[in-house]
Amino acid sequence: MDLELSEEQAAVRELAASFTDREIAPHAAAWDRAESVDRAIIGRLGKLGFLGLTLPEEYGGSGGDHLAYCLVLEELGRGDSAVRGIVSVSLGLVAKSVNAFGTEEQKRHWLPRLTSGEALGCFALTEPGTGSDAANLTTRAVRESDGHWSLSGGKTFITNGTWADVALVFARTGEPGHRGITAFLVPTDLPGFTRTEIHGKLGLRGQATAELSFDGVRVPDGARLGEVGKGFTVAMAALAKGRMSVAAGCVGIARACLEAAVRYAGEREQFGVPIASHQLVQQLLAGIAVDVEAARLLTWKVADHIDRGLPFATESSVAKLFASEAAVRAANNALQVFGGYGFIDEYPVGKYLRDARVMTLYEGTSQIHQLLIGRALTGVNAF
Ligand SMILES: Cc1cc2nc3c(=O)[nH]c(=O)nc-3n(C[C@H](O)[C@H](O)[C@H](O)COP(=O)(O)OP(=O)(O)OC[C@H]3O[C@@H](n4cnc5c(N)ncnc54)[C@H](O)[C@@H]3O)c2cc1C
Repeated sequence: MDLELSEEQAAVRELAASFTDREIAPHAAAWDRAESVDRAIIGRLGKLGFLGLTLPEEYGGSGGDHLAYCLVLEELGRGDSAVRGIVSVSLGLVAKSVNAFGTEEQKRHWLPRLTSGEALGCFALTEPGTGSDAANLTTRAVRESDGHWSLSGGKTFITNGTWADVALVFARTGEPGHRGITAFLVPTDLPGFTRTEIHGKLGLRGQATAELSFDGVRVPDGARLGEVGKGFTVAMAALAKGRMSVAAGCVGIARACLEAAVRYAGEREQFGVPIASHQLVQQLLAGIAVDVEAARLLTWKVADHIDRGLPFATESSVAKLFASEAAVRAANNALQVFGGYGFIDEYPVGKYLRDARVMTLYEGTSQIHQLLIGRALTGVNAF
């Protein structure tokens, strides 16, 4: 694996870094308080090509490899995890699934819209009764006599839920378990489709997280993504790469923590010297720095495997598990460096900790990733 960035990768990182410094980081605290990022940011992300990374140019994508994708997500995550998550879901989970499993018609219809930011996607797998145990979902899709499917049921915790124009919905069309699930691309303005925003989140407050409800929502068979009964394959393929994008976002959080903590430690004086002079403060900073480096290398390894066509699912679990726990640790350590000032929202580290906390929960909890890694090591399924 070559750790030297190519000219294109370095350029895209620079573009993402300056965009983050100019248009995201200065607004992140206000968006967090307002419980909404500025929606115009989506069009700007589209214009820069960040919503089409790794997708073919013929469908509006901007090309690029998965390492470039990770570099952009690290920068966005450094600025505001809420923005990073919008991209990870609409591009990483939805557009990439359309590209991988869609018909030519589905690609031509959805990809130019999703990559430009004209449309936003959400990924609707989790239900109130099935989180980690997603294969037991109960939302139903029933085939009607005219060939249409009728969807009934509900989803929860859906990122981009109230903003999305299209939902990638996983519904039961057959037998219990993962073989009875089919994926559908469902426009969110159809009759019977309702969305309710979830308020009061600990972090990621700028994101529109929602409950979705389907009451006989009718879609044509052309809305089906992939084969009948193969929806769980679509979901797992999306999440295997999605976990890399969460990991990249976590590297961004940990870096933001490091930069804020180093700056503060140089400015704040106690006992007549900057607190950076105290060895125990340096220990906290060193811990964050090691977490940043280690999480980034594990994340880049996944990107490298994807780009070289090597297996990457376990590597993705390893990176996501480590990077998410590292981001929480980094934010906690950074808050310690800030002392009491870290506890009030005039300073950014409290938000970093709140935003980091969900990373060990979604796209597979830390426990689920430990089980996945354990299964890969032993061949024994301990779920
Ligand atoms: C802000 C936010 C955004 C989200 N966005 C999306 C989205 O866009 N789309 C989507 O589909 N979902 C989304 N989710 C849902 C997320 O993926 C789930 O919350 C996650 O999968 C965990 O499911 P759960 O919350 O039901 O927890 P549960 O599955 O009920 O788990 C509770 C606890 O039990 C543990 N546990 C469960 N099973 C086992 C086991 N076999 N062995 C050991 N421990 C176990 C878990 O690790 C956890 O600690 C989001 C969640 C949040 C909070």
